[in-house]
Amino acid sequence: SKQIELASRPDGMPTKSNFELSEVSISPIADGEFLVRNQWMSVDPYMRGRMKDGDSYVPPFQIGKALEGGCIGVVVESKNEQFVEGDQVLGNLGWREFWKSEGQGVQKIDAELAPAQAYLGALGMTGMTAWVGLKRIANVQPGDTVFVSAASGAVGSMVAQIAKANGCKVIGSAGKQSKIDWLRDRAGIDSVINYKETTNLSDELGKMASKGIDVYFDNVGGEHLEAALDHMNDFGRIASCGMISTYNATEPPAAPRNLFKVIAKRIRMQGFIVRDHMNDYEDFMRDVSALIRSDQVVWEETVTEGLENAPDAFIGLFEGDNLGKSLVRIG
Ligand code: NDP
Repeated sequence: SKQIELASRPDGMPTKSNFELSEVSISPIADGEFLVRNQWMSVDPYMRGRMKDGDSYVPPFQIGKALEGGCIGVVVESKNEQFVEGDQVLGNLGWREFWKSEGQGVQKIDAELAPAQAYLGALGMTGMTAWVGLKRIANVQPGDTVFVSAASGAVGSMVAQIAKANGCKVIGSAGKQSKIDWLRDRAGIDSVINYKETTNLSDELGKMASKGIDVYFDNVGGEHLEAALDHMNDFGRIASCGMISTYNATEPPAAPRNLFKVIAKRIRMQGFIVRDHMNDYEDFMRDVSALIRSDQVVWEETVTEGLENAPDAFIGLFEGDNLGKSLVRIG
């Protein structure tokens, strides 16, 4: 079975030399086990954090060991009653062709509602991150002005549309004209900023948020957070989901320089990790499935072909290559 290992820890932006394709043999399955052949895997910005050594909310990847992450596969052999040959499953052992399991943490998926890989995106952790951040952390209300950064990405594109469906005015930022067009034409959001083409992000945001910002869904941190703080309304809420602009930093980030505004404006800023909210999974599925059926939520996938190209897909996240969810199709 082919797999991708962490060859070395990146210093700054990851490069292909940090990864190595290797081949391992898998021993026959024992009683209670089943064998899965991966069809899809997810690449996610949080994996960059796991490439560093040290304490975080998930343990670091080990050098010389295969990486891990969300994946969809098919059961090809089973000695487990719960999982039979042909079942499609969601697991956490991406970055490889085959894996064995006794079923812990593995979920069967229903490919009727949506294609299987959507369980890595809109119907999976990605969609749930958007939903939890808006509903449970920011307590979004109709009439709110919501600003979301990395708005055309996997999480951001769901945030933008769920907020619209909840009666909000939505402002998004992204780094490419094609993404700006998608946000306006397909996601139907109110205003979009190409942050790579603005000389002053805060001024631009101020023009679009004429009544201020009630909710900032932060995927980016740094200058985006600073700009949002400038235009937050009193008692606004910030859902701190991610800070991708800092993940490859070799020096501490300069912005935000205006964090005192959290106090002056009585802002409630809360970080969250989606996995703490698994009790909300059914509410999320009910809500988002309804939005999908009523065409209020659509999604995009950027698909990279071949396990061997997974490092490129991963690195591409930091270069803005993806529209919507970045996925790798395996085999
Ligand atoms: P995305 O699909 O949004 O991919 C990353 C995107 O971020 C890129 O396409 C790029 O788009 C943008 N980006 C990359 N580098 C920068 C930069 N330096 N400054 C500004 N924008 C940048 O990934 P996800 O949707 O999977 O993740 C989005 C965020 O959510 C991440 O911060 C991630 O860590 C976080 N997250 C948090 C979770 C939680 O439980 N708290 C769970 C899942 C994700 P562009 O063209 O706009 O630059």
